[in-house]
Amino acid sequence: MATGKIGVTTENIFPVIKKFLYSDHEIFLRELVSNAVDASQKLRMLSTFGEYKGELGTLDVRVSIDADKGTLTVSDRGIGMTAEDIDKYINQIAFSGAEEFLSKYKDSANNIIGHFGLGFYSAFMVSDKVEIVSLSYKEGAKPVRWSCDGSPEYEMTEEGIEKDGRGTDIILYIDKDSKEFLQQDRIDALLKKYCRFMPLPVISGKEQEWKDGKMQDTDRDKVINATEPLWTRKPADLKDEDYLRFYHELMPGAEDPMFWIHLNVDFPFTLTGILYFPKIHNNLDIRKDRIQLYCNQVYVTDQVEGVVPEFMTLMQGVIDSPDIPLNVSRSYLQADSAVKKISGYISKKVAEKLASMFKDDRKAFEQKWDDIKVFIEYGMLTDEKFCDAAMKFALLRDTQGDYFTLEEYKKLVEPEQTDKQGNIIYLYATDVQTQYSYIEAARARGYNVLLMDGQLDPHFIGLLEQKQEKTRLVRVDSDILDRLIVKADAKDAGLTPLQIDMLSTAFRSQIPALEKTDFIVEFQSLESPELPATVTQGEFMRRMKEMGAMQPGMSFYSEMPDSYTLVVNTANPAVQTVVEQTTESLRTEIEPLRKEVEELNKSIADNRKITEDKKDTPEADDAKKAIAEAEKKVGELRSRQEKIESDYAAGQPRLRQIIDLALLGSGLLKGAALDAFIRRSATLL
Ligand code: ADP
Repeated sequence: MATGKIGVTTENIFPVIKKFLYSDHEIFLRELVSNAVDASQKLRMLSTFGEYKGELGTLDVRVSIDADKGTLTVSDRGIGMTAEDIDKYINQIAFSGAEEFLSKYKDSANNIIGHFGLGFYSAFMVSDKVEIVSLSYKEGAKPVRWSCDGSPEYEMTEEGIEKDGRGTDIILYIDKDSKEFLQQDRIDALLKKYCRFMPLPVISGKEQEWKDGKMQDTDRDKVINATEPLWTRKPADLKDEDYLRFYHELMPGAEDPMFWIHLNVDFPFTLTGILYFPKIHNNLDIRKDRIQLYCNQVYVTDQVEGVVPEFMTLMQGVIDSPDIPLNVSRSYLQADSAVKKISGYISKKVAEKLASMFKDDRKAFEQKWDDIKVFIEYGMLTDEKFCDAAMKFALLRDTQGDYFTLEEYKKLVEPEQTDKQGNIIYLYATDVQTQYSYIEAARARGYNVLLMDGQLDPHFIGLLEQKQEKTRLVRVDSDILDRLIVKADAKDAGLTPLQIDMLSTAFRSQIPALEKTDFIVEFQSLESPELPATVTQGEFMRRMKEMGAMQPGMSFYSEMPDSYTLVVNTANPAVQTVVEQTTESLRTEIEPLRKEVEELNKSIADNRKITEDKKDTPEADDAKKAIAEAEKKVGELRSRQEKIESDYAAGQPRLRQIIDLALLGSGLLKGAALDAFIRRSATLL
């Protein structure tokens, strides 16, 4: 018998392991089962290369509980270890500066274990004592037993050890705080979590069956895992049903996915996996735990940030790569260069798959478009390379339900929708119902209107403008058509300053008050005389507000009032009548008031000059007083004028009808104002 001290530099590593690794202690099982699987696969390799000539037999891993002895045993029929091997691999944990690493990595057990090859030692997190009983595959090897009670001292002996057959048993004497690991259910649940897709059968206890009024063990082994999970198989051998079945295994209770991508590469690194595109309903729900990461079929994590491109966190499925370091924390994963390459590669593959779907069956792609566009837009917005690839298959949908690639759409609208500065103006609507009259007006002009009603569209619009030169997108109701696509200089509204003055107040005064909403009134002679007035909302401010509503940092914008413009069309006959009647009725009263204001303003200007030229003289003081008086007078005259104009307007059903029709067309006529409109319309009839 040999005794010795395990070669770590710290006096006593085990209490440290227990203390720091406590929160993650369940992973010990994954570590031990992985080691067992590795040992078995190593033997298979040796056999393939002819270095091991004996029988392989069935290679499996058994996890068994002995409740009486209080032990949990992980057994394999792999290469086993000689005393020499144990000395080399188990006793000499080669690392230095244990304290330093503990202070650096104390947040997560995974860090320490992964970095320092302490997989086996994680057994001490749950045990008072750990035993290894092993028989190496090597000819003439003797069975060996190693045991250690949680201090750095171990015992190892080859004397009187019985072991039937090659392989290793790791026997854990479970400590009093870890009794849960002596429960079959708990162990089964852990094995299902970590070992569900391991490449060798993992057996845990026996299948049970109902007998004599209770559940009883049968003599059939209970195999926990599927040793050939779908992603390891050839795509050509698989049918849609297989993919769907596997999906539902991964995501119990989920709705069928739209489609999937089977990743399968061995160069420049090895990576397999299946990614499913789920249907995304109204909310963009980005969860980071729907892609599981495996390393050679051993579960690593479902926190894949940094490993897969951000937009793919909308997808579900599995990724398996031996190049993903097992047992490391996320921050380490993200910094890992292999992982970065994997992320870029996955993004490329997804783009290729989408491109081929588009190419192979455009109709089918169009049918899926509304459901997948959120993935693609998200990808384009967050991943430069994906964006470049997606420019070829990203689609735009118009309000008629037709789909176009970006290039096709540009060709379509270029002839009609280029303004006099050579910018191509894309018109879009966000809601076909409420923006109906604007869409129809645009279509009547021969323009096309896109539908941009997706959750990411406000951002996507910005991206399109940035990616496509001389292209601007404007919502169809953000201005009157003549000004959305400016082809010629605007026609003069044909009103005198007096008329503009009177009519602006007349119209503004009759717009029903809406909370947090401002209106400006403008007059313009439009191309088409049909519509008397239109309400528009400036593109810039509206976009800012929309963004503000989505991004917490920009809430300043979302709190600003909505500002609309009421554009009154002086080419319209009804408007012309209003203009004439108003002018006729108010001119005699308003003209003298305006004249008076004009004179007062002139005197204000003169006096201002005096205050500047003759600073600090009594004259300047007098001038200041005169200015104040004149300003007061102007204020009074203006409000008198406004009162006359609004009183007049209130008694003009036609004028009010013009306003309400415009509001109605943009969905702003509500409540009492809507009711008044209906009554007025009935009277007019
Ligand atoms: P790692 O697996 O990261 O190398 P471990 O502490 O888990 O670190 O294991 C150390 C070494 O001990 C392994 O590399 C392997 O050589 C040996 N070993 C552990 N478990 C077994 C086993 N069940 N059969 C054979 N060798 C094993």
